[in-house]
Amino acid sequence: MKQFGRALLIFVVAVLLAGVGITSWTVTAQDATFPTLTPPPSPTNNGGSAQWEIGEQTFTSDYPYGFNFTLKASSSAGRIKNATVQWKLSPVTLQRVGGTFNEQSEQWEFRWESTSAPVPAWVGLQYWFVLEDEQGNTYQTQTWQAEYADDTKSWGRAESEDIIVFWEHPIPDSFGQLALDAMKEQREFYRAAWGSLLSYKPRAIFYATKQSYYEWDLNSGTVGRNDVGQTVSSWGGTVQYNYNGNLVEGAYGTILHEIAHLYQSDKRQPTGIRWWYEGQATFFEMNKGVMYDYLARVKQIVRSKGLGSIRDNWGVATGVRGDYDFGYAFIRYLVETYGIEVHLRITELLRGNRTLFDAISEAVGKPLEEIEYDYRVWLGLPDPTVPTALPTLGFTFPPTPTFKP
Ligand SMILES: [Zn+2]
Repeated sequence: MKQFGRALLIFVVAVLLAGVGITSWTVTAQDATFPTLTPPPSPTNNGGSAQWEIGEQTFTSDYPYGFNFTLKASSSAGRIKNATVQWKLSPVTLQRVGGTFNEQSEQWEFRWESTSAPVPAWVGLQYWFVLEDEQGNTYQTQTWQAEYADDTKSWGRAESEDIIVFWEHPIPDSFGQLALDAMKEQREFYRAAWGSLLSYKPRAIFYATKQSYYEWDLNSGTVGRNDVGQTVSSWGGTVQYNYNGNLVEGAYGTILHEIAHLYQSDKRQPTGIRWWYEGQATFFEMNKGVMYDYLARVKQIVRSKGLGSIRDNWGVATGVRGDYDFGYAFIRYLVETYGIEVHLRITELLRGNRTLFDAISEAVGKPLEEIEYDYRVWLGLPDPTVPTALPTLGFTFPPTPTFKP
C-alpha cells in the first residue's frame, strides 16, 4: 500500500542521551492552539456545492506495528481524488496519512507505520477524514475515537474523571483502583498549584515487564536503554514498566510524579533547570510511607557537605537522586513558607518568559540571595551564608525520562 503522508508531528522531539536512554519531550509554544481535546467543528469545509456521502469507516490496531483506517465515501460532483486521515493523540499533536483507493473493495485505505514515531499501546486517538473530489470540492468528516489496542496480551483498564489507566497482567487489577485513588487524592492540589487541571485526560500505561515495555518502540529496541518509563505530552500520558513490583509506589509515586511533568508542558512552564522540573514533579508525589524521606536525606547531606548556591545547582545536588531531592526540598520550603499560591505565581511568571530565578524572586517578593539565606536557615544549616554563585544557566526545554530511583 502506498503511503505518501509521513506522519506529521508538530513538535515531538525524541533525543537519545548516549549511554543513558531514551528521552522524549515537547516544546510548548503551541499548546494554546489546542486548549482542550475538543473535536474540530464538523463538517468545517464543504468546499463547493457537492453532496457528500460518508459510508462505513473502520479503525484497526495492528500493535506494535501501526494501525489502519478504511473509509467509503462519495461526492455528487465527481470522483474523489484525495483522501487523508488526520488524528490527534493529545491536544498538541496533529498527524496525518494519505489514503489509497482500493478498486476491489471500493474503499479508501490508510496505514500508519509505528516506526515513523513509535507510541505505546493504548494511546488514544481522535480521527477524521479530509476528502477532495476531482472538481476541487473538499469535505471534512465528523470525528471518531479509537485506541491503539494491544490484543496480543491481557490488559486491565480503569478510568475516572482524572485519568485512564492500563496495566498488563499479571499486574493485579487492584492497581487500577490505586491509580484512580491517587489521582483523586491529589486533584485539588494539582488544581491549586497549577491554576487549573490538565486540559485533557491523561493516560498511564503500565507494562508488566521490561521486555514488553520495550516492544512498542521498534526503532530503538533495547540497545543501550535502562529507562523504566517515559512521559510524553505529544500523546498525553506516561508509559512505565512495573520494575519493582511496588504498586503503591507506582500509583502514588510514579503516576503522580509523571502527571506533574504533563502539567509542566500543558501549563507552559519552560525551564531547563533540571533540579526545578524534577524536584517539582517529585513535589507532587504522595509518599504513603513507601518511599524514603526526601527532605531528611537532603538535610543529612547538607549537614555533612554543606549547600551550594541555587545558581550553582545547589553545589551538592549530585547522584541519580540529587536533582529530585534537592529540588523537592526547596519547593517544599517555598510552599510551606509562602503557601501553594507561590507555586502558581512562579508558574505564571515562567509562562510570561521570566527566568526561573527571576520568577522565584518576584513571586516571593525578595531578592534571590535573601530567599536562599532563609532557606538555609529553614534547613538548619549552622552557617546560612550563601556561597558565591556561578553564572546563571541557559534556557533549554525539559526532558522527562524516568529512571529507577
Ligand atoms: Zn521526573
